[in-house]
This record gives sequence, C-alpha cells and structure tokens, in this order.
Amino acid sequence: MKAIFHDFIKEAENIRTFRFKPEHPVDYIAGQYTELFLPHENADDRGIKRWFTISSAPFDEYLTITTKFSDPSSTFKQQLLKLKPGDEVNLAEPMGDFVLPKDNAIPLIFVAGGIGITPYHSMLSWLAQNSEHRTIRLLYAVNNEDEIIFQDTFNKAAAHTTLVVNHPSDEWGGERGLITADHILKLTEPDKDTLIYISGPEPMVETLEKDLTKLGIPKTRLVTDFFPNYTSY
Ligand SMILES: Cc1cc2nc3c(=O)[nH]c(=O)nc-3n(C[C@H](O)[C@H](O)[C@H](O)COP(=O)(O)OP(=O)(O)OC[C@H]3O[C@@H](n4cnc5c(N)ncnc54)[C@H](O)[C@@H]3O)c2cc1C
Repeated sequence: MKAIFHDFIKEAENIRTFRFKPEHPVDYIAGQYTELFLPHENADDRGIKRWFTISSAPFDEYLTITTKFSDPSSTFKQQLLKLKPGDEVNLAEPMGDFVLPKDNAIPLIFVAGGIGITPYHSMLSWLAQNSEHRTIRLLYAVNNEDEIIFQDTFNKAAAHTTLVVNHPSDEWGGERGLITADHILKLTEPDKDTLIYISGPEPMVETLEKDLTKLGIPKTRLVTDFFPNYTSY
C-alpha cells in the first residue's frame, strides 16, 4: 500500500514516531506489524526494507511506526530521517498475531524490552479509545530513564506499570537491572489464567520464554514477539 509521510514526533533523544497517511483506510489489529520499503542509493547490506510494529491504534488518524536511532545508523534509518512531509512510501499489508486475546476477562502481563514497547502502545491506545478496561500489568525494561516513552498512554489505559531500568541515574527510585523470569513472577503474581506477553530483542524474549517455562509457566500461556538480533533496542 502507498502512504504519505506526514511528520515525526520525538519521543526521546534517540526515539522517533513517524506518522503516515495511507492512501486508503487500512484494516489492522492493534499489535500487528508492517514492512516499510525505502529504496535508496548505496544501501548497506541490511537493505532497503524493515519490519516495524504499527505503534498507532486502528482508529488513529495516522498509521505510525516508532523506532530507535543508534550511532552508527544503517543507511535505511538514515534514509528514514531524510523523509520530507508529502513523500510517498510503500508499506506491506499489516500482519501478525501478537494481538489481544478475544476474551477480555483474561488477565494480562505485558513484558517489554526497549523498543519492544511498540505493540503494547498500539493495544493500550486501542483499549483507551474503546473505553475498554482489562486487567493488565506492564513491565517495561529500558537501558536508562531517557528511553522511557509512551507513559501518557499507559496512564490513560490504566495499565499497572513497573519500570525496570538497567543503567539508571543515582536519582532513580524504581526497579533496577535486567528483567528476569523471577522478576516477572515476583512483581506480577500471575494466576492460572494469566497470559504473559513478551516483546523485545530476540535474546531477551528467548531467555525469558525458556526460564518462565522452567519455572512452571506452560508455553500456552506465553505469547511472544521478538525483534531480530541487531542489538541496542
Ligand atoms: C515483527 C517485527 C517488528 C519490529 N518492530 C520494530 C519496531 O516497532 N521498532 C523498531 O525500531 N524496530 C522494530 N523491529 C526491528 C527492525 O525491523 C530493525 O531490525 C531494527 O530497527 C534495526 O534496524 P537497522 O538494521 O536499520 O539498524 P539500526 O537501528 O540503524 O542499528 C542497530 C544496531 O546496529 C548498528 N549498526 C547499524 N548500521 C551499522 C553499520 N553499518 N555498521 C556497524 N553497525 C551498524 C547500530 O549502531 C546499532 O547498534 C521489528 C522487527 C520485526 C521482525
């Protein structure tokens, strides 16, 4: 599908949300992803397309993706930064099954590592738009406080949120370190019906999935979504 780049929002020093207006209304479910194509000259070997979770919610005016920039950045990310309002891009049709369960009575634990927060932003925005309340505990792990984004949305959706910061400042009064399976179970006390969603870099998701299973959480209660291993999410 074709879409027109509208503008970007600076969420944090190195994180931006890019807003696009699709040519036609797009059907998607909160939590799904798309693929963005950005042809450019002298592309590095990572190429000209990337998967991105759609961070907006289905009724939003714009379809958005949210991404983190590093130094050095791939040529793709450099090209993304060069977009001007009115530029046309191509997006794949939304896909993926990292979405909310149909049964709205199921308690949910959302675990996010870094930019893995994007699908939850979509889901929580959608719930807030629909005034639908679900029992949700969000565990959001970041490298440092500056990378915490979307707090307004968590508040609007009344998700009980715990922030875990790996390299906090001296002033940080909350949870510290990396998120572990023990951490998840200690902080959230899931009951037997709870579904645990995990989204983030591949090594984090794989480790948590393995360790939670070892601690007795059946695989059927885990829903995972990982971003491949290009570090620094
Ligand atoms: C289903 C799915 C959903 C996804 N959703 C999101 C999402 O919502 N948001 C998101 O940001 N990503 C998402 N991703 C990941 C995304 O597709 C990219 O893989 C990711 O953003 C990394 O982008 P990049 O390769 O352009 O690298 P960059 O982001 O530019 O860099 C990543 C790392 O590689 C290093 N690097 C980059 N270029 C070079 C180079 N030439 N030489 C040496 N080191 C270099 C950087 O310094 C940095 O450490 C998703 C992936 C999948 C599969």
